Amino acid sequence: MAADRRIVIENCAIATVDASDTEYPDGYLVIAGNRVESLGPGRAPEGLENVVRRIDATGHLLTPGLVNTHHHYYQWITRGLATDHNLFDWLVALYPTWARIDEPMVYAAARGSLAMMARGGVTTAMDHHYVYPRGSGDLSGAIIRAAHETGVRFTLARGSMDRGEKDGGLPPDFAVEALDDALAATEETVRRHHDASFGAMTQVAVAPCSPFSVSTELMREGAELARRLGVRLHTHGSETVEEEKFCHELFGMGPTDYFESTGWLGEDVWMAHCVHMNDSDITAFARTGTGVAHCPSSNARLAAGIARVPDLLAAGVPVGLGVDGTASNESGELHTELRNALLINRLGAHKEAALTARQALRLGTYGGAQVLGRAAETGSLEPGKLADLVLWKLDTLAHASIADPVTALVLGAAAPVTASFVNGEQIVADGRLLTVDEDEIARATRDEARRLARIAARD
Ligand SMILES: [Zn+2]
Repeated sequence: MAADRRIVIENCAIATVDASDTEYPDGYLVIAGNRVESLGPGRAPEGLENVVRRIDATGHLLTPGLVNTHHHYYQWITRGLATDHNLFDWLVALYPTWARIDEPMVYAAARGSLAMMARGGVTTAMDHHYVYPRGSGDLSGAIIRAAHETGVRFTLARGSMDRGEKDGGLPPDFAVEALDDALAATEETVRRHHDASFGAMTQVAVAPCSPFSVSTELMREGAELARRLGVRLHTHGSETVEEEKFCHELFGMGPTDYFESTGWLGEDVWMAHCVHMNDSDITAFARTGTGVAHCPSSNARLAAGIARVPDLLAAGVPVGLGVDGTASNESGELHTELRNALLINRLGAHKEAALTARQALRLGTYGGAQVLGRAAETGSLEPGKLADLVLWKLDTLAHASIADPVTALVLGAAAPVTASFVNGEQIVADGRLLTVDEDEIARATRDEARRLARIAARD
């Protein structure tokens, strides 16, 4: 949108998620071009010029757009499998199928994953993709194309695996890359797609899969590569007790010490899960500014445990929320993770003091932006930041009688999205995506899921 064109949103509750958690029970926000220009209580100022649209948002809550910090899009076409397994058994059951993915499958799965999140209020998304079978096509390019078409801000975490079964890892040998190939392809992806500028729509991170599927050399050289190129680092960490045991047996230390020894703690790093952390692990994350992607539904689905989110937050660790791959979280939604984060953490040691509704909203917005290194640009509603924002409809049967709008959003049923904006451009209207055809995507993902199942069954 041209820099001088304005959109005015009025008559809604606003949760800014700024540093002081400023809220307006009845306020306005002005978008100018791709930025938030002003916001506050009451009606928008008189005399604004070039107002191309005025939205009466009565009955709505306006929040920053949601930020997803951990996902694996390709899993969209392997949902509903190995439903009663823990992480390692689930991985061993699914790797042979995942090893057969190709570019059309990954493109369809990425479109499905992105569409599901975007229509539920996600404005900044990421994909941790780490399965690159030989000859499978330009998988990274297909994922980035899908994100561009959906219209969300996007980080591709270019993953890799080089520890196959013959080296004591979990993935089959034909699904892993050689160390040098993985590093070269990752560097090429950064050079082709990473945009470091303010408001970038595409960024790339270096993201070897996990300690149990990646060699120590790939961890170490991946960290060096990311720092040489000036991009962020992402991986899975401390997800299960089995992983902890694996690290002790193989490396003679726990996952956090292993990460530190390979250059993997730092403010340019964020790690998925971080469930099995002791006090000194949490201190190490806080000391180094390492971020965490908390994935409550996936952790529950795979019986991994409850991450110590209240302790991480109290120590000052940046924490965002993640859907995780949809083979371990079939819903693929992020807005419902606000609720799950709050509920699951109350089952942990801190009970009812674990997380408030406001903290859950912060995890899903500002916390996510922090973890992705984008907090100066998005994640809160403040003048000068990008106009990435969502209008949640809270005046229907599901929410109208809930006392407080933020509580309604977090603890109520999944709230309908009346409008979602990225860069001041509307991508969702009345729960439907404006950028892509959901029904066509549903058909394509079903067809590609069936094609993958047929190919995998032949093995
Ligand atoms: Zn994951």
